[in-house]
Amino acid sequence: MAITQDLGGKTAVITGSNSGIGLGIARELARAGADVVLNSFTDRDEDHALAADLAAEFGVSARYVRADMSKGEDCRALIAAAGACDILVNNAGIQHVAPIDTFPVEKWDAIIAINLSSAFHTTAAALPMMRKAGWGRIINIASAHGLTASPYKSAYIAAKHGIVGLTKTTALETAEEAITANAICPGYVLTPLVEAQIPDQMKTHGMDRDTVVRDVMLARQPSKAFATVEQMGGTAVFLCSDAAAQITGTTISVDGGWTAL
Ligand code: NAD
Repeated sequence: MAITQDLGGKTAVITGSNSGIGLGIARELARAGADVVLNSFTDRDEDHALAADLAAEFGVSARYVRADMSKGEDCRALIAAAGACDILVNNAGIQHVAPIDTFPVEKWDAIIAINLSSAFHTTAAALPMMRKAGWGRIINIASAHGLTASPYKSAYIAAKHGIVGLTKTTALETAEEAITANAICPGYVLTPLVEAQIPDQMKTHGMDRDTVVRDVMLARQPSKAFATVEQMGGTAVFLCSDAAAQITGTTISVDGGWTAL
């Protein structure tokens, strides 16, 4: 059988996709021919415009559906509203940095809900659709912090390790079907939010851009280069391809060598 990555006729739902990595993944899936459902918790004209732009650029069907990934019922409603879900990308995520003994309880709860529990709800809602279609791809966006830890990020690291575990269980429960579940573990990715932090970091450390990026921001990334949202999208497209049909229950690090240290 020829190895293909034409995603024409497939519908992809990408949570948290009105910016950053989620939008980058949606763009690459659309470029490969998939119809896409974008999501976040806002309902602004610009959110819907992102979907219209994708449809115009790639000639696919694209919609934006508001749903708050901190709420289980919204997660399930997103999949129902999509109507079909051949490719599910659980990407929505937030971060908070504080020592455990002063970590705000509401931040812990929100991070566990958005970064971990949302994937349980969307997966539960999407699996019957994938089984009916006889094909499915579940891609969970974990992190290098799904495999390693850093201080002061307890909730994020617990959630990201948790989503790696959920990925493995999902893979085992679908192992004999044409459904795979994998996690992408990015290192530091250059998103608009990360880009916006660079001037502040330059000021704080009294360093030029190259030095602050190399020695401060990418201190743990041996390649000394940010990963890109396009690379995340390309990895997701690969996981949807026939070449990846026997890749399931595992993690793919796109981290410039971070987890090799
Ligand atoms: P981002 O802030 O640009 O994107 C996060 C997305 O999640 C946004 O679209 C946001 O609107 C959405 N979101 C937040 N709360 C939501 C909610 N309650 N309901 C629905 N959507 C919600 O950040 P990003 O860097 O693109 O992060 C995307 C994912 O990649 C996250 O899971 C993050 O942990 C992971 N990640 C990022 C990096 C990095 O360096 N940027 C590294 C490793 C992992």
